[in-house]
Amino acid sequence: MTKQIALITGGTGGIGTAICKELAGNGVIVVANYFPADKVQAESWLDEMRKEYEHCYIVAADVTDYSSCGDMLESVTDNIGSIDILVNCAGITRDKTLKSMSPDQWNCVINTNLNSAYNVTQQLVQGMMERGFGRIINISSVNGQKGQFGQANYSAAKAGLHGFTMAVAQETASKGVTVNTVSPGYIETTMTSELPEQVLQSIVNAVPLKRMGTAQEVAYAVAWLADQKNAYITGANIPVNGGLFMSS
Ligand code: NDP
Repeated sequence: MTKQIALITGGTGGIGTAICKELAGNGVIVVANYFPADKVQAESWLDEMRKEYEHCYIVAADVTDYSSCGDMLESVTDNIGSIDILVNCAGITRDKTLKSMSPDQWNCVINTNLNSAYNVTQQLVQGMMERGFGRIINISSVNGQKGQFGQANYSAAKAGLHGFTMAVAQETASKGVTVNTVSPGYIETTMTSELPEQVLQSIVNAVPLKRMGTAQEVAYAVAWLADQKNAYITGANIPVNGGLFMSS
């Protein structure tokens, strides 16, 4: 059987790396996208990955830029092959209460966490539908489901991302392409390491499982959704949040 190919945006980040490892461990060829200015770090990331996983690659693109994403997709298709699995994982935070949030803090979070999914998926989805197979997984957040003080930009982007999931899932279902969201709670990565210790402690206290999650636990849900056998779940939002937010 030919190996599947996965593109993971923000693939060299905390959760992205765990997703790359989980998929590569399942025999998938993984292509990790990185922000162009991070070339040196991305190359050393690749050196590390290659020690364990032979079929691992990196590709540069600014996911906030439509034409940069187009160039990335062309490069992957020409040099590696057609993409079967897309994980939209690139994301940033710029926390501020709304009254002091600048237009730049609003726009860069919307562009990186939400418009990025359009920029990549829109240029890829037609090919997946023509080939009759695709798995698209969008990494949202518990804070897109419940909102969060100081995160109007991030909560709006992440809630919008699941709206995007549900709409695209309906457009692609008849062609063998499933589209789902994974919404992590608080996960141990550099993104959360920037939070003050006191805030982290109060978050952990509010989590029924009484701990933060690991990137590996998010990656496991992503790999499960990406599996070829997982063909009847689409438009869903899978929470990986230790019980922090429960919905029917
Ligand atoms: P990281 O900061 O480790 O990873 C995010 C990655 O996205 C980085 O590699 C970053 O590159 C990349 N990125 C940012 N902007 C761009 C861009 N314009 N073009 C290309 N790549 C870009 O964070 P996490 O691994 O923690 O987060 C991964 C995803 O999970 C994000 O979408 C985040 O919102 C989501 N999430 C995380 C949670 C957590 O608790 N950690 C909880 C819920 C959701 P660079 O290093 O150059 O900035």
